[in-house]
Amino acid sequence: MTTTTPDAATEFETVIGLEVHCQLRTQSKMFCRCPADYASAEPNTFVCPLCLGMPGTLPVINRTAVEWTIRTALALNMTIPELSKFDRKNYPYPDLMKGYQISQYDMPLSEGGWMDVETEDLGLRRIGITRVHLEEDTARLLHRENEAGERYSLVDVNRSGVPLMEIVSEPDMRSPDEARVYLVQLRQILRYLGVSTADMEKGSFRCDANVSLRPVGADEYGAKVEIKNMNSFRGVHSALEHEVVRQAAVLRAGGVIDQETRGWDEDRQITLSQRSKEEAHDYRYFPEPDLPPLSITREAVERIRGELPELPDQRVARFQSEYGLGEFEANLLTEEPARADYFDAAVAALDDPSNAREAANWITGDLFAQINKDLAHPELDAQPITPTHIADLVGLIVGGDISRSQARTVFEAMYETGDTPATVVKAKGLTQISGEDALSPIIQQVIADNDSAVDDYRSGKEAALKYLVGQVMRHSRGQANPQQASELLVAALGSD
Ligand SMILES: [Zn+2]
Repeated sequence: MTTTTPDAATEFETVIGLEVHCQLRTQSKMFCRCPADYASAEPNTFVCPLCLGMPGTLPVINRTAVEWTIRTALALNMTIPELSKFDRKNYPYPDLMKGYQISQYDMPLSEGGWMDVETEDLGLRRIGITRVHLEEDTARLLHRENEAGERYSLVDVNRSGVPLMEIVSEPDMRSPDEARVYLVQLRQILRYLGVSTADMEKGSFRCDANVSLRPVGADEYGAKVEIKNMNSFRGVHSALEHEVVRQAAVLRAGGVIDQETRGWDEDRQITLSQRSKEEAHDYRYFPEPDLPPLSITREAVERIRGELPELPDQRVARFQSEYGLGEFEANLLTEEPARADYFDAAVAALDDPSNAREAANWITGDLFAQINKDLAHPELDAQPITPTHIADLVGLIVGGDISRSQARTVFEAMYETGDTPATVVKAKGLTQISGEDALSPIIQQVIADNDSAVDDYRSGKEAALKYLVGQVMRHSRGQANPQQASELLVAALGSD
């Protein structure tokens, strides 16, 4: 009997849980009236005594932030308890103006939801979501170094008090790929809900990951390591892959995994130990005495549920069933809500909605390709072609006014100028010659001028037909309808 050495995948099972912090794009901050969108503000200009942590100030709950958290929770299939409360999380760090953060501990706004996630390796699996709760963001520390090489930090308080939603998953993910798909889908849902820009590079969507390994078949979890400091989806994936390999090597060598926090070093592509992981009691949580508990009526929950927009999955299904799109196109068109809205607007502008697939082809093909290579207009809503332009272009093609190759010329001109298809067609003299009356004189001329090709065709050389169609296109300066030209040529050559 032979034995084989098991590889990491068959020896250990990977266990991943994710904590996502997501800034809500409300008008004002969580507990004061300062603007929440500080992106273009000078440091320390969106501040007041409350978010500066001055004594004697009292917080007031941002109602929209609570509603948006419930909206998000409902989209993630969570339960909304009737009673919720805020708590103080105490820890000393210069980014905390009050010395504590108002967060939620044992009575969050929502509990017990899930999201279905599909990967190539593991298939479709349901990932549990433990809780979605609401808290406030901290100030931002900017670490600097002076000319003498001394390090110092600057504090920008603009971010302090911005509503922050925390979305905690169960340790249900089993591979870095699954974690990435979970994050991509979560970001997509947040954008559809309109509650956050969910931009990882800009810090409005941040992710910490808990990773552990356990022997395949074991019930108990291994010691978990928390990874922080990942600034992109690729970073999360690389950090998780690196950490799985690192832990497997430690365990295989007979070592023990320390429960700790490690930071992802993007430049070196490794995780580095930062500190041993704190336990919840280190934070000395206690109920926030300045805020009353939140009572969430069932009427309010049902109203918010009723106002949920069409979510990505629903939109994919509708694009497939109503417009006959394939799964790939439907996914591509729903990746961002702006894309899906654009397509819906194009279909609405079509004379005949049964041409939706043709519109989808132009959007996912030529338009997306142009946007990808166009540095001046990298966004769908900033480029010059409107949904109506797409619908008009489709109308001209389907109506036989222009050929597909002419349509491409029209498309390129539209992208340059923003003109309507009709304007471009007129300016460039691009009309298609179709119909027997218009094409027959050209075809007769081509037959008369090309004896040898005609003989070749009649002696069975099919390729000669292509040449003759090409001559028709040349004589018509590319304006003949090639399909009709071919049919009329076959008829004319067969008839004498
Ligand atoms: Zn303030």
